[in-house]
Amino acid sequence: MSELPVVIAPDALPALIEFLHSRQLTALNLVADANTWRALGQRASQALAAAGIDARPLLLAGDEVTPDEQTIVELLLAAGREQRPYLAAGSGVITDLTRFASYCTGNDFICLPTAPSVDAYTSTGSSLILRGLKQSIYSQAPMAVFADLDTLCAAPRPMIAAGFGDVVAKYTAVADWKLATLLWDGPYDDAVARRMEAARDRCMTQVDAVGAAQPEGIHSLIDALIEAGLCMLAFGGSQPAGQSEHYISHYLEMKLVREGRKPVLHGAKTGMATVIVARYYQQMREMSHAEAAQRLAASTRPDRAQEIQRIRLAYGDLTDSVVAEQAPFLNWSEGEYDRLKARILDRWAEVQAVAAQVPAPAVLADLLQRAGGTADPAALGLGAEEMALAEGYGHYVRNRFTAMKLSRVLGLLA
Ligand SMILES: [Zn+2]
Repeated sequence: MSELPVVIAPDALPALIEFLHSRQLTALNLVADANTWRALGQRASQALAAAGIDARPLLLAGDEVTPDEQTIVELLLAAGREQRPYLAAGSGVITDLTRFASYCTGNDFICLPTAPSVDAYTSTGSSLILRGLKQSIYSQAPMAVFADLDTLCAAPRPMIAAGFGDVVAKYTAVADWKLATLLWDGPYDDAVARRMEAARDRCMTQVDAVGAAQPEGIHSLIDALIEAGLCMLAFGGSQPAGQSEHYISHYLEMKLVREGRKPVLHGAKTGMATVIVARYYQQMREMSHAEAAQRLAASTRPDRAQEIQRIRLAYGDLTDSVVAEQAPFLNWSEGEYDRLKARILDRWAEVQAVAAQVPAPAVLADLLQRAGGTADPAALGLGAEEMALAEGYGHYVRNRFTAMKLSRVLGLLA
C-alpha cells in the first residue's frame, strides 16, 4: 500500500517547500481563517513567497467557520476558475472545506494542520453540514500532510484536549467495529485495527505530556490522529476511527447547529461520549451468560412505527433522512431478529472479550482530564436533557451495528 507523504517536524515549512519544488508546483490557493492565518498561514505564505511560490490567500470570514452550504459557496467564489492546488492551513473545518472545494474544482490539496484537534486530516470524507444534517461527503485524501510541531504545541489547549478526546474515542470505535463483525456483518481488517490500537496506545502513554503541550506528547497525538485517517483510508471506511461515540457527538452537533448555539469541538464531544459508551461496555463485561440469555429471551423486535415515532421525537425535521438511513434496522423481520439474538448468545464470551478491551469509564474520564479535557457534558455547555437524547437516539445517525444497538437488543438502552 502506498501512502501519502506525512512529515511531522518542529518546523515543517522547509519540507513543504521541498515537496512543492519536487512536484513543480508554483502556485497555490491558501485557505485559512483569521485564527489559522495568525497561527501559521501568514508565516507559510511568507516562506512560500520567499521560495518563489505564489500562495494566494483565501481567507474565510468569521470567528467560527461552519462547514455548510454558505461557506462552501463563499470559498468557491473566492477561488475563482484558475486551476491550482489548495493548501489547507487550519484544523478540521478548514481542512474539510478545502478538501471539498479542491475536489469539486478538480484540484489536489495539501494539509498544513494548525492544531492536533481532529483526525480528519488524512481522510477522504469531508464532514459537512448540509440542510442541517451532518454528513461525510466523499471527496479526496490530501497529496501530503506537513505537521508543524511548533505550531501544534502552541495551539489552544482546548483544541489539544479535543484531539486527545478523538484518540480516546478509538477505544469504543475499534470495539464497535469488532462487535459488528462478530454479530452483524461487514468487512473487518485486523491489521488496520491493530495499527489503530497501537497509535492510540502510544498516545495514551504520553497523556501527561499532551496535557502539558510538550513536543513529545503533541508528536504522539498528531501521529495518532494522522494514523487514524490513514487507517480509514487503508480500510476504505470510518470504522477504525468513529462509531457509537461519534454518533452521539454528531447528534449533539446537529442539535447545536439547528439551535444556533456555539459549537463544541468535535474531539471534546467524542471523548466525552466515549465515556458514555464505555458504561455500556462495562455492563456487558459484567453480564453473565445466564443474564444475557434472560435479557435476550425477553427482548422483542422493535416495532417499526414506534421506532419512527422515537426518531421523530429526537430528530424532528430530519426524520425522513434518518429513517432512510436506518432501513436495515427498521425493516428486519421476526426471523432476522431471532437469528441476531441467537448469535449474540452464541458468541457471548467473544462479546465480553471485546468489551474487556474498553477501559472502565472512570479510567477514560481520568485520561481526558489529564489531557486537559473533560468527561462532564455540563462543562461543555451540554444539558442533561439533550445528553439523554444523544445517548438514547444518537445511534440512529448511522446504520452501523454498534454497542448501542446491541444495548437496545439487550434492554440496557431504553
Ligand atoms: Zn473524530
